Amino acid sequence: MKIDRIFAHRVELPLHETTYKWSGGKSVTVFDSTIVGVETDTGLVGYGEVCPLGPFYLPAYADGVRAGLRELGPHLLGKDPRELTKMNYLMDAALKGHPYVKSGIDIACWDILGQFAQMPVCELLGGRYGADVHLYRAISQETPELMAAKVAGYRAEGYRRFQLKVGGDPDVDIARIRAVSAKLQPGDRLVADANTGWIQHEAVRVARAVQDIDVYIEQPCLTYEECLAVRRQCPHPFVLDENIDDLGILLRARADLAMDVVNLKISKLGGLTKIRQARDLCVSMGIGMTLEDSWGGDIATAAIAHLAHSTPTPFLFSTTDFNSYVTVSTAEGAPQRVNGRMAASTAPGLGIRPRPEVLGPRVLEIA
Ligand code: MG
Repeated sequence: MKIDRIFAHRVELPLHETTYKWSGGKSVTVFDSTIVGVETDTGLVGYGEVCPLGPFYLPAYADGVRAGLRELGPHLLGKDPRELTKMNYLMDAALKGHPYVKSGIDIACWDILGQFAQMPVCELLGGRYGADVHLYRAISQETPELMAAKVAGYRAEGYRRFQLKVGGDPDVDIARIRAVSAKLQPGDRLVADANTGWIQHEAVRVARAVQDIDVYIEQPCLTYEECLAVRRQCPHPFVLDENIDDLGILLRARADLAMDVVNLKISKLGGLTKIRQARDLCVSMGIGMTLEDSWGGDIATAAIAHLAHSTPTPFLFSTTDFNSYVTVSTAEGAPQRVNGRMAASTAPGLGIRPRPEVLGPRVLEIA
């Protein structure tokens, strides 16, 4: 089997809640997502999706996905998409870095492998654990009162894990954590995600001020070293996210005992092949995981569901259903939230069928 053609669509994904806001006044109203297609000489076509959280979250931006595909695509024509380790080796040789560019191609190749093998991607990634997986709900940054008021509605949708967007003024953040935690019920979990927004002394202050609250602290500061310093003074379970973007830093963080849970995102690591390596290492090392991506619609959510559903249940802290945040459906067959949970498709590959009328014309084609 050979890759004949690589193409992409650009899709705008508006939000049901209009705007998504997080640390440092950053926000997105319409996401710019790239749907990547990989076409083979057998007629099998696989799909992937890459959707950065704006240009100021990770070192990634929406036009960069397309520019990177134009650079990388020609090197992959004629190659067998089922040879995933080899595909990743080739991609890394042809283009240094830029893991998010490679992510969409890698996901599409897994989709092809699954269709070829007549197996869902989650079974190829290691096996399906349980009937479904539990989701977290991100609570966009607002006043403490508004954020607390959101909890009941999200719980009515079945969510029991809440990720509070903090990383602003430390005094307001302390109030945000207190206001939201007052709305929790037994069994709920609360994460305060600062998304690198605090400097070290602010993070230590916040952690001390909420010592009596059952809350996880996620990625308080910009650098790994600042986070490690905070971690060593923090009584709460600790999550690293933005800093953990490859195996080297994951292993260093493990050696430093720098986290209890790690947030791994498919495009941050560079695709399903690479995130599976990191995921399996975390299982071996006893580290819990939030498995997700930076953002996306139906196709990204399908890939997330296969990854999460193939992870041993005790190690899956949470995952997410981005397709329920956005107003546009790009594919049929994507996972749908039921009672705060979702399941990976049982159909071969990712189990999705793109909607051509939503994807519109191809914005690039390499053949
Ligand atoms: Mg995070």
